[in-house]
Order: sequence, then structure tokens, then C-alpha cells
Amino acid sequence: MPTAPVIIRLHDRDNVAIVGNDRGLPAGTGWPGGPTLREHVPQGHKVALVDLAEGDAVRRYDVTIGYALKAIPAGSWVHERLLRMPEARSLDGLPIATRRPEPLPPLDGYTFEGYRNDDGSVGTRNLLGITTTVQCVAGVVAHAVQRIRAELLPRYPNVDDVVALEHSYGCGVAIDAPDAAIPIRTLRNISLNPNFGGEVMVVSLGCEKLQPERLLPPGTIPIADSLEVADVGANEDAALDVVCLQDDHHVGFGSMIDSILASATAHLERLNARRRETVPASELVVGVQCGGSDAFSGVTANPVVGFATDLLVRAGATVMFSEVTEVRDGIDQLTARAASPEVAQAMIREMAWYDAYLKRGAVDRSANTTPGNRRGGLSNIVEKAMGSIVKSGSAPISGVLSPGEKLNGRRGLIYAATPASDFICGTLQLAAGMNLHVFTTGRGTPYGLAACPVLKVATRSDLARRWHDLMDLNAGRIADGDATIEALGWELFRLLLDVAGGRKTWAEQHRLHNALVLFNPAPVT
Ligand code: CA
Repeated sequence: MPTAPVIIRLHDRDNVAIVGNDRGLPAGTGWPGGPTLREHVPQGHKVALVDLAEGDAVRRYDVTIGYALKAIPAGSWVHERLLRMPEARSLDGLPIATRRPEPLPPLDGYTFEGYRNDDGSVGTRNLLGITTTVQCVAGVVAHAVQRIRAELLPRYPNVDDVVALEHSYGCGVAIDAPDAAIPIRTLRNISLNPNFGGEVMVVSLGCEKLQPERLLPPGTIPIADSLEVADVGANEDAALDVVCLQDDHHVGFGSMIDSILASATAHLERLNARRRETVPASELVVGVQCGGSDAFSGVTANPVVGFATDLLVRAGATVMFSEVTEVRDGIDQLTARAASPEVAQAMIREMAWYDAYLKRGAVDRSANTTPGNRRGGLSNIVEKAMGSIVKSGSAPISGVLSPGEKLNGRRGLIYAATPASDFICGTLQLAAGMNLHVFTTGRGTPYGLAACPVLKVATRSDLARRWHDLMDLNAGRIADGDATIEALGWELFRLLLDVAGGRKTWAEQHRLHNALVLFNPAPVT
């Protein structure tokens, strides 16, 4: 018995719809009010609902996602080879804070169990982070981390883990180039992430360009018992705790490891004395991201995240959305939604910077979309972007961060400008102060971070079934007709509070940790 066709059309003015059925639909399939399929259409791919002439606009999300390169009869499979991509929206003449959405009604009474930090931030995990100035020390630090896990952590049961902040920066780079500010502040701000509890320890080689005092100048480490944010009020006298491998007193590898373990012990003592306490949901700093997207991302998982984003903002929490190339084609929607003209201008500034960055590399925004995206039904970056922006929900956008910047007290819905690359985006959101990460995927990715819980949402039930011990929530139930966006949005919101309070995600249970990947637009030497 063939299953009934699942045809998903997002807007009355759309002239294409998406096939929802697991294995697609064969030629000859019809449905009430629709055409008969002229050919097999794979799952997640588009079908023409009407006859399209050459040059006609193809509409999805009530937006033109492309122009027909030739006549496309109703019932045909509309794939990327039949579409010409629209030009990028000019950054001139955009609507500036015109929509002014009403602030959403407050949502009170939601809490989670978190770790309060001296700088006023709240951690969702209690981790020892070991900051490194340069890749040269990575092997030594990795060895020390193994020893810390085996020998020290059993004595400090309230500490969740130890995390080496390994990266490829620090030397062999043009450290005075203007754009070097981005990787340097990223590393600095990651070491101050709320999940590290303000305990900063550094391992340095000695001869590297990125000296410890340059990475963490006096004044960047927060004062104990101060509620000021780190960059505002800080202790000028706080000595930076640095283990320098080239120091004369180190004789042999064992001596270096002993020094790192001794330093770690002091920090572990203090971290271990901390306890979770009940804090309001407003202390959440959630980074939202997608990766391995398909045509369902914008129909199931991302709208669920968007609904949860609105709930979080209503509860006073901070939500960051990012991925410049995946919002560039919807920039007019975003500048219109800005809470003030200054926020809209900051957003335009970030888009213009990124346009120039891509141009310098002789590519444009079409460099985004992968073979997997296209196999999943996303014809181009315009279609991908419309589905991606949905993660930001409907609240006014109240602030903008440049790559690697820290929130420093900004709250509400924030646009944190980052590349769309999963690892670079996650790394920059950690630098901003993210304490919880939501990640949607349609093709499937086992993505995870060591510094912060990553909760993954599947766009399709087929993926959620096959990857049952990797996906934390199945938004495919929406396409199956078994759940609503609203119901799953609430489910995700409650799950986020549980995970913030210590419940482990699948990625944490399996210890799936992707690398920190810095965004370095500056030259290397
Ligand atoms: Ca991404």
C-alpha cells in the first residue's frame, strides 16, 4: 500500500512545494489540487505546482529563490540545474528598523541549575580550560590533559572535565595585521567563557609571536566577587598564571608536565568548591547554528529553534544567530527587524566587511552550499538562507557582534557575525560567551564541542531513527504530521533548561569534540 504523498508548501504565493515522503515520490503521483508528477522527485526536493515559462521567478518562503532557465511544466522536478540564482541584495537602500516588532511578552518562572561566576556570567558546565598561546605546545598539553584526567580529576568530583584550548594560531602569522585582532580576541574571549569559571591558566612555548601578555593583557581577568563584566571592571594586578615550556628551570619533558599539573591543581581546588544553584533562564546564552542542511531544515528543525528562540528571549535569555553567508540574502528582513537604526547599520557593516572578504578571495556568496545541501534539495544559497534565518524567530534584533567579540552585557536576540563553517561559527560563539549550543542538521553531522553542551535537532525522522544515539530531538515529526512547531518548540526550550542544568547531550555522552577553528582573515608568514 503506497503511503499518501506528503507535499509541503510554505506560502500561498509559492509556485513550488517540497516532497516530504522518505524515498521521494514516483512519476504519475497526484494529489488533490496539485499536478501529476512527470518524473520521480526525491525527498526534500521541489516540484513545480504550475507551468513555469523561461525566466519566471521560482518562489519558496514567499521569496524568489531563482529564475527558470527554461520552461518547466507543472509536475516537474525543480532542481538547481534549472535555476539561475538571483543577484545579491544591494546593501544600499535597505529598510532600517522599519518593522519594529512589538517586544514579546515576558515569560517568567523558568530556571536552571547553573554555576555563578564572579564576573556575573553563569556556566552550564564546570570545566578547567587550559589556554595555549601557540600550536607548538599542543602535544605537551594533550599529554598533560590525559594525566590530569587520570590522576587529578578523580580527586575533584565536582569538576566535569579538563579542556585543552588547542588551535593553529600564535606564530608564523602576521600578528600586527589589522585582521589579526579577530583570532587574538577570539582566543582571549574563549578562555573567559562562562563554562571555565574564571580560572584562567596558560601554557606558552616562550618564543612565539603571541606572547601571554598580548593574549591576556593585564585587566582582562575578572576580579573575584565583582559583578562587573571582564572588560569593564577587572583586576590590573591579577598575575597571569603561565607555564612557559622554554623556562630555564624546566629540565626535560617530565618537568614541564609536573609544572602544568601543579598549576592545574590550584585551579581544580577552586573549581571543585563550586556548586550548582538555581538561576533564572535569563542567564542562558544560547548559540544557534545549522550544518549539513537539507530542504527540511527550513520547514521543521529551524522553525522549532525559532520558536524556542522567541521563548528564550521572552524569558530574558540571550540568543545568538550567526553564519553571514546564510543570512546575506535575507538582509532586508533583518535590517527591518533591528531594534534601532544603529543595530541595522552594524549589521550592514558586517555584511559589507564579509562581501569584501569574499571578493578578496575571488569568490562570492555562491561558494556556500555543499553537494550534500543540493542532494538534500537546496538549490542555492538563497533557498538555504531563507531556511536558515528562521532560527532567529521573530524578536527584534537588539545587538550585533563582530567576529570574536564578547557579549559584554548585551542581551536579547543578538546577531553574532561569523562564517557559516560549523567549527568556526561554534568557536566564535564560544568566544562571545555561549554556554549552550543548539545545532540543527538534515544530512546529519556528529558535531560536538568540548567547552559547551551541543544539543542537536534532526530535520527528518529518517535521520533521527538511523542516528538515534546522536540526535537529541527529532523535528521530523512535524513533516510526519505527528507534532506541531509550537509543541516541539516548547519541548526544545525545556530540554535546553535540563541540559543547562547538567543533563548530558548525546555528543557529551560519546565525548564527541570538534576542534576549535579560529577565523583568521589575516596573512600567515
Ligand atoms: Ca553552519
